[in-house]
Amino acid sequence: MFRATLLYLSRNRTLQRQATGLPLARRLSRRFVAGETLPEALAAAEALNRRGILVTLDHLGENVTNPEEARRATGEYIEILRQIAQRPGLAGTRCTISVKLTQLGLDTSDEFCLENTRAAVSEAARLGNWVEIDMEGSLYTERTLNLYHRLRLEFTNLRVCVQAYLYRTQGDLRPLIEVGASVRLCKGAYDEPPNLAFPKKAEVDANYRRLLALLLSEEARKAGAFAAIATHDERIINWALGTIAEQRIERQHFEFQMLYGIRRDWQEQLAAQGYTVRVYVPYGQEWYPYFMRRLAERPANFLFLLRQIVSA
Ligand SMILES: Cc1cc2nc3c(=O)[nH]c(=O)nc-3n(C[C@H](O)[C@H](O)[C@H](O)COP(=O)(O)OP(=O)(O)OC[C@H]3O[C@@H](n4cnc5c(N)ncnc54)[C@H](O)[C@@H]3O)c2cc1C
Repeated sequence: MFRATLLYLSRNRTLQRQATGLPLARRLSRRFVAGETLPEALAAAEALNRRGILVTLDHLGENVTNPEEARRATGEYIEILRQIAQRPGLAGTRCTISVKLTQLGLDTSDEFCLENTRAAVSEAARLGNWVEIDMEGSLYTERTLNLYHRLRLEFTNLRVCVQAYLYRTQGDLRPLIEVGASVRLCKGAYDEPPNLAFPKKAEVDANYRRLLALLLSEEARKAGAFAAIATHDERIINWALGTIAEQRIERQHFEFQMLYGIRRDWQEQLAAQGYTVRVYVPYGQEWYPYFMRRLAERPANFLFLLRQIVSA
């Protein structure tokens, strides 16, 4: 109920306008967001890189309805890739970019979005970098995967995210493994109905393990698949580490991914043990829906926020 309410509010444009205008709210958002500008985000990325942690940069924004805005967002991503390439500490895949297809025009049309995403992926390929495609609400799952598969025919420098809370994901993994895809496996951050997604956390966690086992299987590895294990869940991370050790899975087949500002202890610990760790670093002025999704994940975050507001 709490989660559903916050996720509902995350889509409210009026609240978004009000929250983003409040200095206190902007300050609080900094727990999960690296800043509002590209230089701030690049500085955060460089700081993580210096600690041996890789980065994927997300220029916040989603559900763009105006084609001009989608073109502008595409141009901005191309500029981000160029700026990354100019920084010796970040160049190559030490700092990739993560995009949301609704930011690149998916609400206008599939072809328009494909054209924009292709421009970003092609520039990334030229610079020796990668593009990660986030997964949004279930309305977009099918179209996101179709677009990924179309681009995968032309490029290899892209990764797509799938969500363990959706029943359909096991079926979606099969063709991804067949093409040797690089897949980010997360639990899923949106409000989905019980006919599409496991309603209980225990079921989502069990499905996460099942899907990760498939992604790390010998068959998947032989096909060239790669698993980005995107979770902060200690039990799942420990289970993954056990599976990796038991099956002697080499490190070129997987990496751990976490969100900026969450479980820094694990980020550091895994990196210190020599595992590849990549942190998803969001930045920009459109932080409201992302911030609300992070609050929805954990009631303690919301209580913390209320305490800060009361004491301000
Ligand atoms: C790199 C990365 C990329 C992602 N990309 C997507 C995407 O494209 N699409 C999508 O739908 N979702 C995405 N997510 C979000 C994901 O779906 C989950 O909503 C989120 O990761 C919380 O789930 P969890 O796996 O950490 O497990 P949980 O069981 O929710 O949490 C496990 C533990 O992690 C910590 N934790 C988790 N969330 C928070 C939080 N908000 N604040 C503080 N501590 C927290 C707590 O200690 C908690 O006990 C991504 C997550 C990561 C790490």
